[in-house]
Amino acid sequence: MQRSKSWGFPRWGGYGNTGRDTVSVRMCDWPNCTKKGEHPAPKYRDSKERFYFCQEHAGLYNRNWDYFKGLTAEEAERLKQKDEQYSDSYRDAGTWRDTFAGETMEDREKNLALDVLGLDGTASPEEIKTAFRSLAKEHHPDANPGDEESAERFKSICAAYELLK
Ligand SMILES: [Zn+2]
Repeated sequence: MQRSKSWGFPRWGGYGNTGRDTVSVRMCDWPNCTKKGEHPAPKYRDSKERFYFCQEHAGLYNRNWDYFKGLTAEEAERLKQKDEQYSDSYRDAGTWRDTFAGETMEDREKNLALDVLGLDGTASPEEIKTAFRSLAKEHHPDANPGDEESAERFKSICAAYELLK
């Protein structure tokens, strides 16, 4: 089954870097956090969907989900530019924050992990195992020598499976 879009998209407000919009500030996406969300984190690698966290929560998120680790400054900059491209269309796109507020971090991590494996909440343990095996095989460093993107993906896949199994 296709995952529903029930999360919506992150809500955008100028997050300060442009220097022009200082009134609208994006808040940290962590539940109940009231600090400024100045640190973008992709929902998963190469995703245009982003969370924005304060420094503390960005650190927490990145420790659990190593997605940015392998990125060069250049890649990070490219992702940032993509953000700006999309920001207008996403600005009023949804109630993601409200949806998020009713979701526990456990659910959130589980959903992220399912996304990494390309599954939805209806996936059975067998399906999770099958998806993991197939993706792990595809992205295994031995099968992709010198391919850093695959190496990072492989790590994400393993972390996701650890969480779900
Ligand atoms: Zn925060």
